[in-house]
Amino acid sequence: MISGREYRQQNVNQSLVNAGIVMLIAMALHNFPEGMAIGSAGTVDYSSGFLVALMITLHDIPEAMAIATPLSGGNVKRGKVFFLTILSGISTVLGAVIGFWIGKMSDFGLALCLGAAGGAMLYIVFADMIPEAFKEINGKNCSIFVLIGIIFGIMLIKIIK
Ligand SMILES: [Zn+2]
Repeated sequence: MISGREYRQQNVNQSLVNAGIVMLIAMALHNFPEGMAIGSAGTVDYSSGFLVALMITLHDIPEAMAIATPLSGGNVKRGKVFFLTILSGISTVLGAVIGFWIGKMSDFGLALCLGAAGGAMLYIVFADMIPEAFKEINGKNCSIFVLIGIIFGIMLIKIIK
């Protein structure tokens, strides 16, 4: 008879764990400009900062799932999965502090920060997220749902704003 803990230790799926770690590093890097967007938007006014923070928080939910899913699939302990997923968000806080600090220094700093954060997010959206969304899922073309999702996303921001 082996305990659940021993079972998990014996059955760690290393390739899934590695995929989770790669995702964790990619997300931690990607969270930095997102943090800068929050921080620099916060120097414009409180409601802009809040709106950007809210939107980034919402889109971080599927991103956190992208880290947690391969890790827990690889039989990493729940507490550890939770800790590692939270860890990926630290760079958001760091980016927000730096974005706020540069944005407060001067109007040029603010313009630079907003531009850099916007550019990084545009790149992620057009080079990664949209092409990934348009990929066939289980051999099915789901493009119409991608388009509905994009329109829904735009309308959601417009209503909140
Ligand atoms: Zn993101």
